Amino acid sequence: MLDLRDIHKSFFIGTPNEFEVLHGINLTVNQGEFVSIVGQSGSGKSTLMNIIGALDRPTLGEYTLDGVDIEKAKDHELSALRNKKIGFVFQTYNLIARTNALKNVELPMMYAGMGRGERTDRAKMLLEEVGMTDRMHHNPDELSGGQKQRVAIARAMANDPAIILADEPTGALDSATGRMIMDIFHKLHEEQGKTILLITHSPELSQETDRIITIKDGTILGESKGNWKGLSSDERAGVKKEVE
Ligand code: ATP
Ligand code: MG
Repeated sequence: MLDLRDIHKSFFIGTPNEFEVLHGINLTVNQGEFVSIVGQSGSGKSTLMNIIGALDRPTLGEYTLDGVDIEKAKDHELSALRNKKIGFVFQTYNLIARTNALKNVELPMMYAGMGRGERTDRAKMLLEEVGMTDRMHHNPDELSGGQKQRVAIARAMANDPAIILADEPTGALDSATGRMIMDIFHKLHEEQGKTILLITHSPELSQETDRIITIKDGTILGESKGNWKGLSSDERAGVKKEVE
């Protein structure tokens, strides 16, 4: 699904300085995997996520996303690929403030050229999946953090992406609300086979994913398996209680 080979990323911080943030990242993620990325603040997680999501290009290295060589793709091809393949979820929700939840979810479908009736129906269906039907006519400032994040997830699903990239989606939420958001990700992963990459500061939440990638100072330090997959539903309920 995605394959990064020796990815470096530098930022230009004024002549003659370049500040290298990623120092040769190698990472392969297969279709249907639920992967978490953990590491200290400033270690390069969001920088890596922006490259994976084709929001930014690597300075050096090779990146193949669903068979497309990112290095060779033109900017408009990258944005088309992004709109089709990737759903983004951010810590700060990034909803459009002046329009309601329903319209927020409709927007990516409008950009993709879907007709009004079809996109409204689909947006309603997606909002129902995240339990937001009764609040769909409210603007973001009338919603709680958890409700905003549920709308953001519905929006991320608008064009039925294969990959969901979530950068600290529970970072601004209390643990019970974060739990609800994680349950939605589990559902998307298990029932719809979505490939999910989750950046999190929570060691407990990272344990719920298939693989945990640890980044330190722009390098992958190591990788471990989550302890969630082998658990029965009763055991999972126990873990969830502990997390709360
Ligand atoms: P956090 O957990 O706090 O979100 P992070 O692991 O996501 O941290 P990044 O946002 O990827 O960290 O930043 C990694 C480093 O790159 C930081 O030192 C940051 O200051 C630097 N950096 C990020 N974006 C830029 C930029 N556009 N220009 C210059 N430096 C940048
Ligand atoms: Mg970050």
